Amino acid sequence: MDIPNMPKMMNKSCDPLEIDKLTGLYTREAFLKYADEKIKNNPGVRFNIVISDFVNFKHFNERYGTEAGDLLLKRTGEMLQLIDPDIIAGRYSADRFVTLMRHIGVESVQFLEDFRLPPQAALELPTTSITVKFGICDDVDHDKPVSVSCDHAYIALQSVKHNYKKNVGVYNEDLGRSVMEELIIEENMKNALDERQFVVYYQPKMDVETNKICGAEALVRWIHPELGFMNPGAFIPIFEKNGFITEMDLYVWKEVCRSLDEWKIAGLDPVPVSSNVSRIDFDTPDLAEKITAIVDSYGLDHSLFHIELTESACSDNSAAIFSIISKLHDAGFVIELDDFGAGYTSLSSLSELEYDILKFDMSLLKKDKPSSDKTVLTVAMQLAQMMNLKVIQEGVETAEQLERLKSLGCVIVQGFYYSKPLPKDEFVEFMKNHR
Ligand code: C2E
Ligand code: MG
Ligand code: MG
Repeated sequence: MDIPNMPKMMNKSCDPLEIDKLTGLYTREAFLKYADEKIKNNPGVRFNIVISDFVNFKHFNERYGTEAGDLLLKRTGEMLQLIDPDIIAGRYSADRFVTLMRHIGVESVQFLEDFRLPPQAALELPTTSITVKFGICDDVDHDKPVSVSCDHAYIALQSVKHNYKKNVGVYNEDLGRSVMEELIIEENMKNALDERQFVVYYQPKMDVETNKICGAEALVRWIHPELGFMNPGAFIPIFEKNGFITEMDLYVWKEVCRSLDEWKIAGLDPVPVSSNVSRIDFDTPDLAEKITAIVDSYGLDHSLFHIELTESACSDNSAAIFSIISKLHDAGFVIELDDFGAGYTSLSSLSELEYDILKFDMSLLKKDKPSSDKTVLTVAMQLAQMMNLKVIQEGVETAEQLERLKSLGCVIVQGFYYSKPLPKDEFVEFMKNHR
């Protein structure tokens, strides 16, 4: 990086309390004050707000000590003061810096994308393990407080935080809207549970040899009085991030048991119903006991309640998963591994974990070529047969797909070909007509 002449970034007359001791930059509050002033005093000038963040700063601190971490922040602060004599820079939070700089359009994105910390020798620190990410609020709105532009830059930063290929995020309205939607979902979720807005739909699982129903999967929907009908894709990933999934899943499992009990009392002889269990749920140490208690409270046979281990969230609690699955299996629950072939499960876990059924992800079927016997689908089917695991193919939509699956020896399927997920009443009718 070219380093121009000396900075004159700091307002010499400012209060010493406005300077962050470690980095020599403004504190967050002082930054907001002086940035607001500068924007107000330069009505015709276009500005950008840029927030930077060290991705692996915590690991850096752990590995090299907090003193080295502090030194890195200090050196970065010094560097920022050298970039452009006119920028205003502050420490936004722990390892995040915020700068107000002149608007330089798209070139600034590429410049920041290519940004690397100076080599180890220059900083006297091992900087190669550090990645710097940036969030840009392009063309600051002069009519709004600068804190709003900082929020936008921060949202842009968050959008690239877990992206290995991109180091710079630029705020735009779509990004703002998706963050707003996430906030609205988070604000409404607890109330939704109290007001029973989560509704369980049931999708039949069919035996292809008899064309009869042999099971169902419980799939949640959120019907909100103002936000309307939402599919799980809109809220499950958010609940998995904030942990609310565990409360919602408990509710769904209770609803499933309540329905099974109702159907039993009505003399319907219900088919087993699978409930989705998120990987995040396994952070609950007594998960096996909780599930068992719910099913037992309705006096249901454990074989009626199947467990689908979903793959939508990755987690590192594999030891807990192992022991909980094993307890549930011993208690007579059927364990299905969801989204097989597309999720995070390693092949080696197939011999460690006590699954009964592999649910093949629909991508295996979509990528299959009926003319070949060496597709991933055919090989996966052979693997399951060799390991004595049953297979359910998800997402079967056409008669051709069904014929192909029959020829490969797959007995149970689920998909729009037979039925979409149905509201409870419609599912009961379907169950009555397909016995
Ligand atoms: P999943 O468990 O793999 O469920 C199958 C998904 O595929 C469902 O989407 C279903 O509606 C859809 N599907 C079924 N047949 C077909 C087909 O023929 N074609 C196509 N294109 N799609 C088909 P849905 O209901 O939107 O659920 C999405 C995911 O959300 C589920 O994937 C599951 O991982 C998660 N999920 C749903 N309900 C719950 C729940 O109560 N708890 C948890 N933790 N996760 C849930
Ligand atoms: Mg599932
Ligand atoms: Mg699935």
